[in-house]
Amino acid sequence: QTDATPVLAIERLRKSFGALVATDDVSLEVGTGELHALIGPNGAGKSTLITQICGEIRPNAGRILFEGRDVTALPAPARARLGLGRTFQITQLCPDFTAIENVLLSIEARHGGSFDMFSNPRRNAAHRELARDWLDQVGLAAQGGRTVAELAHGERRQLEIAVALARQPKLLLLDEPMAGMGAEESASLTKLLQSLKRRYAILLVEHDMDAVFALADRISVLVYGRVVFTGTVEEVRGHPEVRAAYLGE
Ligand code: ADP
Ligand code: MG
Repeated sequence: QTDATPVLAIERLRKSFGALVATDDVSLEVGTGELHALIGPNGAGKSTLITQICGEIRPNAGRILFEGRDVTALPAPARARLGLGRTFQITQLCPDFTAIENVLLSIEARHGGSFDMFSNPRRNAAHRELARDWLDQVGLAAQGGRTVAELAHGERRQLEIAVALARQPKLLLLDEPMAGMGAEESASLTKLLQSLKRRYAILLVEHDMDAVFALADRISVLVYGRVVFTGTVEEVRGHPEVRAAYLGE
């Protein structure tokens, strides 16, 4: 394995649900430190692609290589342990737990998942400090003691990212993190992703084109399960067919 080995390489990934081909021979790569955005209309197969990459569903054909290693047959938890991190389109946080407790659960999961936060005071203190660091990194330093139920929508999204980061992933899979956000929340999440970019390889599914254009190194356009175009922001902006297919222009 060399530096040129992409963090993630998907080769001809195919998934059908009955007669519907949700991802149709999709190939794409995410390089070290790259933010690769995946755009496309509703039903294009973006979420189906993400769930195949993290291992929640199995492709019918094709391969998924993580740091050059074929993980196509590995179950999702094993992929997570290798550093394949994801956040969810639908929130999976524990609503009655505080922000810091949710991050602590994630840290404990990385350390074997005993969820026994209270047995070893020294380890507990160290993990609490770590959890505070992750909250700080996503801009939630002041919200650690609030329960998820008390957080604003945008803050929950930030917390989901802290929970994902606490697993120390090498690749972050983000499925529409800006969904349901107002302009201000989107702008602040864009800033956060800007600060994470380069340190992590990121595959970002997002409809907010301002965010995509601000963040992406490369953009892949998925339409009816097929990648119709992959290129830089400038190339996507200057490509009339892509603009027509995706941006509705
Ligand atoms: P996107 O995330 O781009 O909006 P999805 O990946 O959610 O698209 O869906 C792609 C297509 O696959 C859609 O037509 C959707 O209805 C279908 N689909 C997704 N998941 C399933 C499933 N579990 N069973 C049947 N059809 C599904
Ligand atoms: Mg989706």
